[in-house]
Amino acid sequence: MADKRDFYEILGVSSSASQDEIKKAYRKLAMQYHPDKNPGDTVAEEKFKEATEAYEVLSDEGKRQQYDQFGHAAFGPGRGAAGAGGFGGVDLEEALRTFMGAFGGGGGGGSIFDNFFGGGGGGRNNNRGSDLRFDLEIDFEEAVFGSRRDLSYNVNVECDTCNGSGAAPGSQKKQCATCKGTGQVISSNGLFHMRQTCPDCGGTGYVIGSPCPDCRGTGQKKGKRTITVRIPQGVETGSRLRVQGKGEGGVQGGEPGDLYVILHVKDHEIFERHDLDLLVEVPVPLQTAVLGGDVQVPTLEGFSRIKIPAGTQSGKMMRIRNKGVKDPRGYGHGDLHVRVQIETPTHLSGKQKKALRQLEEVMDAANFPVNEKFQKQVKEFTHRREELEKLSTAT
Ligand SMILES: [Zn+2]
Ligand SMILES: [Zn+2]
Repeated sequence: MADKRDFYEILGVSSSASQDEIKKAYRKLAMQYHPDKNPGDTVAEEKFKEATEAYEVLSDEGKRQQYDQFGHAAFGPGRGAAGAGGFGGVDLEEALRTFMGAFGGGGGGGSIFDNFFGGGGGGRNNNRGSDLRFDLEIDFEEAVFGSRRDLSYNVNVECDTCNGSGAAPGSQKKQCATCKGTGQVISSNGLFHMRQTCPDCGGTGYVIGSPCPDCRGTGQKKGKRTITVRIPQGVETGSRLRVQGKGEGGVQGGEPGDLYVILHVKDHEIFERHDLDLLVEVPVPLQTAVLGGDVQVPTLEGFSRIKIPAGTQSGKMMRIRNKGVKDPRGYGHGDLHVRVQIETPTHLSGKQKKALRQLEEVMDAANFPVNEKFQKQVKEFTHRREELEKLSTAT
């Protein structure tokens, strides 16, 4: 796991910054690196997630105090804080929710950018089709090695009868009288003049003389679409792929929305993933653990052999460097962590049992220092309890 940057440093504020300063700093960064402003830019996405994680902690006085006292360890593995993977961090969906929670005024998807980036109303015409979300479950192997998938989904497509225009065949579009074809109207409340999307033509600048009978003038019909998406190597649960123009079709020839594919990676039978690192539990025969030897460990590319020192205990962790998942941004590989699981032999024959009994006879306490230590601790505990019992009964 890479070293995490300081949360204050990420937001560019001092450790005594007020909540107001923290919010302002986060807002600036989040808008700069928001995925919708930087489609396909994974570096920007990381920056967005990083800033959001820092904001999540520093904007909450309780979490901030914990962070000031313990640093990242306050939210590290096993502390129950952020991150489905257990190694901290936030996934993109969570980051987007936090961002919306901090600045979004509810409303429909994407509306936040009309407020922030739209440039004062009227910019985007409301004939644009809606964005769609597609939740896709993929295998561990697909996430690690990359893949291609065909997706089929129901979507509004162009009406064949009117070719998406919404106008009945033979009829013509007419310039909108309200906005004279500009798509915008100026409204005034006496103090301010505001440019707004024309309510009569929805910003297109024209109206339909007689609507297409097949689509009632919308230019759309229900249909099914199949597309192929490329799943890049190294994605994880929560990774989001944006497929431009593959959302709902626009109304009357308007721009189509986008399709967002949210990935969910299935658990794997032998590899457990933590960020770029992998964990594999390897069964080691009892005699190998006792006498030493080596075992074969599966890796993503094949096998590695690791040495098992004599006297290895169950649960011992070993690490094979750079045999984890490849970083999608090209920063190398994670590591493969190996946990030893000593296998107690079963289905013993009479001969094997006899051999083990002979072994038992020649073993003594010195061969089991862990047990020796444990028994000593149990004895101390029992002794203390008895002392206290005596104290409480003495009057
Ligand atoms: Zn039509
Ligand atoms: Zn108009």
